[in-house]
Amino acid sequence: MATVLVTGGAGYIGSHACKALRNAGHVPVTFDNISTGWRDAVKFGPFEEGDLTDRARLDAVFAKHKPVAVMHFAALSQVGEAMQKPGLYWHNNVTGSLTLIEAAVAAGCRNFVFSSTCATYGDQDNVVLDETSAQMPVNSYGSSKRAIEEILRDFEVAEGLKHVIFRYFNVAGADPEGEVGEHHRPETHLIPVMLEAIDGTRPALTIYGTDYDTPDGTCIRDYVHVCDLVDAHVLGLDWLMAGKDSRVFNLGTGSGFSVREVIEQSRSVTNREVPYTEGPRRGGDCTRLVSGSTRAETELGWQPKRSTLPEMIGDAWRWHQTGHYDK
Ligand code: UDP
Repeated sequence: MATVLVTGGAGYIGSHACKALRNAGHVPVTFDNISTGWRDAVKFGPFEEGDLTDRARLDAVFAKHKPVAVMHFAALSQVGEAMQKPGLYWHNNVTGSLTLIEAAVAAGCRNFVFSSTCATYGDQDNVVLDETSAQMPVNSYGSSKRAIEEILRDFEVAEGLKHVIFRYFNVAGADPEGEVGEHHRPETHLIPVMLEAIDGTRPALTIYGTDYDTPDGTCIRDYVHVCDLVDAHVLGLDWLMAGKDSRVFNLGTGSGFSVREVIEQSRSVTNREVPYTEGPRRGGDCTRLVSGSTRAETELGWQPKRSTLPEMIGDAWRWHQTGHYDK
């Protein structure tokens, strides 16, 4: 049993991670400023409200709970916003992470699981994206995450901070038991936006660009179920607890789906029409992001169990219809 400080534990992925940690016998302590997360989503362990840039607050939380590891999810993560407000992304994501890393090291907590992104690879045509691929982000969301990866490497050399970095592809779905799910204000991600269009909460989904160099002209992404994704984090924690070396893992299934294919699957899963319009490209979007690595399977023993489009959309749809949070 390990006490783990989970930053962003009130958010989409962090709340699912807390459930997976609790189910594995660990104690997840959520640290969250509730700026984009939800107090109601903290259900599986203690809650400590605070901001990552508040070093004194972090020191107090480390002293109180004495976590053996940190799982760091808290971040701003919208590509569109990142293009318009790079300063916000650099300040919040990088300064916040650096403060957290310094607080962890000062408290003697030297195991760190970091939520990074395939956006660090950028737009690379005809390149198999594995963990050794070049990192050439095209938006400040990706750049900020790449910078944090570099900070972790520097702190390993200087301070012995062991880390597991997960580069996520596109996370989707919700807890099949309906305890937690995806809820952003405003919502910007493809599947929840589409579900809002299906149930009439918004007039239509806009497809961002139909002139990409893909078979149907829309962007291709590799979707992974949030429950599979957080299972990998529990394995990453085990990896660190076993004293293994710092490591980077892609988390994707290796299968890519276009925006039009996701729309088609949603029509079939929900049995409803998907109102959509075709719009211009969104700045900062890559044409194709699909993982080309099986390292997480071979080294961590990760086995995605629910990462098919029908299961991800089905779980998200059930959550969309029944689940909700208040602050
Ligand atoms: N997308 C879209 N309309 C939307 C939201 C997203 O066409 O309202 C597209 C977006 O351009 C990208 C894909 O769906 O190609 C996934 O976008 P999302 O924001 O969900 O995740 P990202 O890939 O940016 O992390």
